[in-house]
Amino acid sequence: MKNLRLILITFFLISLLAWTIHAQQSEIVYTVQVRDTLTHIAEKYGVSVNQLASYNNLSNPNLIFAGQQLRVPSTSPQDNTLSELPKTYTIQAGDSLFAVASRFGITLNTLIETNNIQNPDSIQIGQVLILSDVSDVASAILPYPYNSVELSETYIAQGKTLVVYASFSETVTLTANFDGRAVSLAGEGENYWGIVGVHALSELGIHYLTLQATMSDGHVSTVVKDVIVVDGGYLSEVIQVIPGREDLLSADIIQAEYNKVSAIWGNVTQNKMWSGNFAHPIADVRLTSYFGTRRSYGGGPATSFHGGLDYGAGEGVPIYAPAPGIVVMAEGLDIRGNAVLIEHGMGLFSGYWHQTEIVVQVGDEVKTGDLIGYVGSTGLVTGAHLHWEIRLGGIAVEPLQWVSHTVHDKIYRRGFAHNRLRYLPQK
Ligand SMILES: [Zn+2]
Repeated sequence: MKNLRLILITFFLISLLAWTIHAQQSEIVYTVQVRDTLTHIAEKYGVSVNQLASYNNLSNPNLIFAGQQLRVPSTSPQDNTLSELPKTYTIQAGDSLFAVASRFGITLNTLIETNNIQNPDSIQIGQVLILSDVSDVASAILPYPYNSVELSETYIAQGKTLVVYASFSETVTLTANFDGRAVSLAGEGENYWGIVGVHALSELGIHYLTLQATMSDGHVSTVVKDVIVVDGGYLSEVIQVIPGREDLLSADIIQAEYNKVSAIWGNVTQNKMWSGNFAHPIADVRLTSYFGTRRSYGGGPATSFHGGLDYGAGEGVPIYAPAPGIVVMAEGLDIRGNAVLIEHGMGLFSGYWHQTEIVVQVGDEVKTGDLIGYVGSTGLVTGAHLHWEIRLGGIAVEPLQWVSHTVHDKIYRRGFAHNRLRYLPQK
């Protein structure tokens, strides 16, 4: 009898212990912080917004408040069905595509297609793979007063220009940043759009676009959108330096000149001066070097990339303004040679290096087709050509996207299947 009682007590204690462990694993109580949204909390714990809302009997998922306690269902291995697929996976030593696909329960074909993999046998350690389609993010529940936040694309290649659109159910003042850098926005009140430059050497994988809307009562509502940066597919090249000009490669000269020009293109005014497509700055378009090519100088490591387009035009060929703007720099530099910078507004600048002669001055207003100078071989070059680059918020972006209809069409939302076309910017 005594033994039986001991057994029963022991059994009871073991059950209690097991129950306690189970209870700890099956639920977390989370206290809502200022600026939290249900989407953030859901992402943090790997559950869906719907699970979180129904688990807490929330009738309106937009209405959560700081200090509120939410019960978060467990994502422990016992009930793995609750957790969602991670969005990306970084290749580890010993991984194969097949193993990665099996581990996350997706097909090998899906993995290859989503990531545009040319040769499935050559994957690299550190390579970031996209696992899940993030299109569901677009329909995620937005906090008040957001009506919609849309991106021109969820997967954006390195070096490209992204366009964001946001609409609100009341008048707000909107600010935005991408990876901590301010985003240029146009519009006001209930509708905004903005342009984001993605760095050509940007890390692959998830980046964050943060929108902060200040309402008339001073309250701030924040939304964070995932932007997945994918490989730009750029090539590599070695630049041979003209003998006798190696001194120009000194880090001090490069840095001092960069500081000078970046101080100018970092000085952003919101006034948008361009509209529509950019023109080519040279009449006879023959490109000899494309944007984004990884570069090494004189056999060194590839630490930089080609920030613009090279036009193979001879000495003295006229250079024209590709869009309206104001000349903000016109002078001779060590590396860029005779250089002109035009500001187009909204953080957009265009640069023209290595000219033989400059015919504009700082402060000049130019319109599309105005002569600004002539092609030359001044600065650190091996021959006459025009180097043309476009800077957006200080980031060098693919100029061809601005010449073709690509960026223009994104801004005016042509050719995109938007079912909530609420706002078209005025031309
Ligand atoms: Zn160039």
